[in-house]
Amino acid sequence: MDASAMHDIFIIGGGINGCGIARDAAGRGYSVFLAEMNDLASGTSSGSTKLIHGGLRYLEYYEFRLVREALMEREVLWKMAPHIIWPMRFVLPYAEGLRPAWMLRLGLFLYDHLGGRKLLPPTRTLDMRRDPAGKPLKPLFRKAFEYSDGWVNDARLVALNARDAADRGAIIRTRTRVTEARRSADHWTLTIQDQRTRAVETVRARLLVNAAGPWVDTVLAGVAGENGAHNVRLVGGSHIVVRKKFDDPRAYFFQNKDGRIIFAIPYEGDFTLIGTTDRDFKGDPGEAKITEGEIDYLCAAASEYFLEPVRREDIVWTYSAVRPLYDDGASKAQEATRDYVLRADGGKDVAPVINVFGGKITTYRRLSEHMLEKIEEQIGKRGQPWTAGSTLPGGDFAHDGFEAEVAKLRKMHPYLEAGHARRLVRLYGTRAQALLGLAKSTQDLGRHFGVDLYEIEVRYLMEHEWAMTAEDVLWRRTKRGLRLTEEQAQALDQFMAAEQGRRTAAE
Ligand code: FAD
Repeated sequence: MDASAMHDIFIIGGGINGCGIARDAAGRGYSVFLAEMNDLASGTSSGSTKLIHGGLRYLEYYEFRLVREALMEREVLWKMAPHIIWPMRFVLPYAEGLRPAWMLRLGLFLYDHLGGRKLLPPTRTLDMRRDPAGKPLKPLFRKAFEYSDGWVNDARLVALNARDAADRGAIIRTRTRVTEARRSADHWTLTIQDQRTRAVETVRARLLVNAAGPWVDTVLAGVAGENGAHNVRLVGGSHIVVRKKFDDPRAYFFQNKDGRIIFAIPYEGDFTLIGTTDRDFKGDPGEAKITEGEIDYLCAAASEYFLEPVRREDIVWTYSAVRPLYDDGASKAQEATRDYVLRADGGKDVAPVINVFGGKITTYRRLSEHMLEKIEEQIGKRGQPWTAGSTLPGGDFAHDGFEAEVAKLRKMHPYLEAGHARRLVRLYGTRAQALLGLAKSTQDLGRHFGVDLYEIEVRYLMEHEWAMTAEDVLWRRTKRGLRLTEEQAQALDQFMAAEQGRRTAAE
């Protein structure tokens, strides 16, 4: 598609909401241009707890609309991308002096029945003295509840939505910042700048979608000239990753004495992910980092439950992100609504803009559908809603067919080690076949960058998923960053920089 043409929709932001909207809109026949100033999912969308969940805790704030919509999405998303989304059971220990057992039971009863659950198993009660889930915990936790939610590889969900949007005709530009948005009666003129070459271009579109996440107000103020915009409350949240604390495939949901909760989740085979925190955030969301206080808080909260305490020395990685919550005036950060608000402005005498405030990874598909309703009101209807029942790239296999997919890949590529084949199917699903192409042996996979990362995968990510740097590959498209050494990461970066240079010269 020609960048200089008049597009129907211009989207600012390549997080889950921007990419989800781009996919839905492109699939309905709108022409779409999306600009992301950094890498896809480099903002909040790679820094989540990675749960596809209704949000048990939100019931305490009577967020029934949100919880119901999110619960219903669990099975829709699982079927849409069974390689990167799968069910997980959560163990919620009853702790004396905190929420009473009847309250937990009532919350879980609602959770089981509010949201059209068909495939996910219901809640059950556990005797922690007998159940293996009790083993890594202190013996004072004798009773627990086990319930269902889902797990998602958040950064890959973004990349796959972008891939599918592009396959349906959308233009996706990463490392492209929107520096100005000028409005006239019937269109927007956007100035965009390539962050690597500094080249500036203008693009025109009939409608603007501001899906800049925690930068949504900055975009309104700086780019679109709406000074003093204040619609979102920025709430930072951090996670720690430690060497694995338990072997059980289930995750834990721990209540803290301050009324908050944290999760401890099996992560990337050998690790446990612990989070999150909630604190009001000031500054550039791109610079969010875990604080010493948050490290202490997470270690202490998890150590209340685990027999073996979680110590600072156990931490192998941390990450932080900023929630762009719609500012509903709540007094505490953890009480601010997690629901989303879409606000349209203009449309009669001036070209329209629709802003996205708030939103969860879990509800991105429904948010996109609601956005499309608003887009239709502004620039006319094209297609029907289509994403429920669709599959994302690589997700075209049965929701319970993961093992069969791994077996298929190993049959076609018997030289792959079991763990490598599993990892490729987890990340790329049926597209792992395309990634490996005609490779017949390990030698055909090209240069070896460390553990099971080879040139063939890196080239695939550069060609099909907009990866440009080692960080894009190691921390967003894969989590090989947890296992590669510093030197190996540098070698990968040099390889990618040379390759990128070659590509730019050829363009
Ligand atoms: P982002 O992902 O931040 O995307 C916005 C993008 O806009 C950014 O990539 C940014 O670079 C780009 N941008 C900004 N300005 C410009 C510009 N001028 N030009 C071009 N691009 C620009 N949700 C769940 O469902 N489950 C969870 O378990 C969960 N856990 C969470 C835990 C934490 C700690 C946090 C912080 C959030 C969590 N969430 C969770 C919420 C979820 O992660 C966010 O709601 C979601 O990722 C927001 O996506 P977004 O697309 O709106 O924003």
